[in-house]
Amino acid sequence: MNNFLKEIWVYAEQHYGKIDKVVYELLNKSRKLANKLNMPLVTILLGHKIRKKAKQLIIRGADKVYVLDDVICNDFKDDVYANILLKLIKSKKPELLLFGSTLIGKSIAPRIAANIEAGIISNCVAFKLNYSSKTNFEKISFITTNKYEGKKEITTVTISKNKLKIVVVKPDTLIDRVLQNRTGNIIDIKLKDNEIVSKIKSLNIKIKQQTEMSSNIIVSGGRGLGNEKGFILIKQLAKAIGGTIGASKPPVDLKWISNNFLIGKHNIVSPKVYIACGISGQMKHMEGVNINNDTIIIAINKDPHCKIMEIATYAIVGDLYKIIPEIIKEIMFRRTNKINNVYKK
Ligand SMILES: Cc1cc2nc3c(=O)[nH]c(=O)nc-3n(C[C@H](O)[C@H](O)[C@H](O)COP(=O)(O)OP(=O)(O)OC[C@H]3O[C@@H](n4cnc5c(N)ncnc54)[C@H](O)[C@@H]3O)c2cc1C
Repeated sequence: MNNFLKEIWVYAEQHYGKIDKVVYELLNKSRKLANKLNMPLVTILLGHKIRKKAKQLIIRGADKVYVLDDVICNDFKDDVYANILLKLIKSKKPELLLFGSTLIGKSIAPRIAANIEAGIISNCVAFKLNYSSKTNFEKISFITTNKYEGKKEITTVTISKNKLKIVVVKPDTLIDRVLQNRTGNIIDIKLKDNEIVSKIKSLNIKIKQQTEMSSNIIVSGGRGLGNEKGFILIKQLAKAIGGTIGASKPPVDLKWISNNFLIGKHNIVSPKVYIACGISGQMKHMEGVNINNDTIIIAINKDPHCKIMEIATYAIVGDLYKIIPEIIKEIMFRRTNKINNVYKK
């Protein structure tokens, strides 16, 4: 086997100690690849007070976990995280590095690729490593499948063997498979004093944007809200059902809500329940919602013929300002009276 082809790496994204669910998807996918190519599957875990999480990665398929548990990694900073990863990559020379296509993954991966001239494939939902013993890894092809205008698109990219291959994979349907009786190595990385210094200054504001957008239930508001106050209602509904909020582009463009909540091609979410309020369901918006057979789409819209009604599991036709308060009222009533059965009141 070629000397360069050493390890498959998965970046273990975490938020204040909680591993992002996309990491488990990546481990599930890459475990099969690692078995096929007989390569160790390695995860890189950077954070503060996160060492105990390393075991979670091993029971989900990793053979080895490099852990940097350091206060410098407490808050996510692009330059710090990218520089630590670069240091590791330069010394260990992995073959393949996988990131989730999250805000963090999309922020670090290009920095690394640009620094070491790695090959990078973004927005990938599936990939295949074309291994040929004849060519002795002279060329490796990836097949990426992108959703565009509802169609699947296959692209083959060729990256020469002496370059690191980075694949940024869109969050998909979570397959969180715990493998029995797995053991692996946890290897601690230590930094020397002042080895990594950030140019970014932190403001003392807690931003929950990343975990917010990876919720199982997302309540999204669109132009149909009419004004920024509409998001108060959206937040109330999200709170009542234990979900988080999202938005289509018009409310972001109109500055009713921060860009962090925009859902679209470049910010994809995979909720189990997606509630679209005053959103017509244009392609550019729906590209941002990963829909599989189990996804429940609830559309609240006064236009029964708008696009989102064609794909909605439940379509509620009417004025959102009348419908949403009724839903919240009903939830609160049922919660207070401990009613689970929908037929009883
Ligand atoms: C290059 C490019 C990139 C884009 N990227 C994105 C992207 O990433 N994400 C994105 O979301 N969009 C994106 N867009 C915009 C996209 O094409 C659509 O214009 C946008 O998604 C529409 O948003 P909307 O559904 O909120 O608004 P509209 O299409 O205007 O729909 C508003 C809906 O609200 C309903 N409504 C109005 N009042 C009420 C009420 N009181 N109660 C109930 N329903 C009501 C209406 O019936 C209507 O269906 C992009 C466009 C371009 C050109």
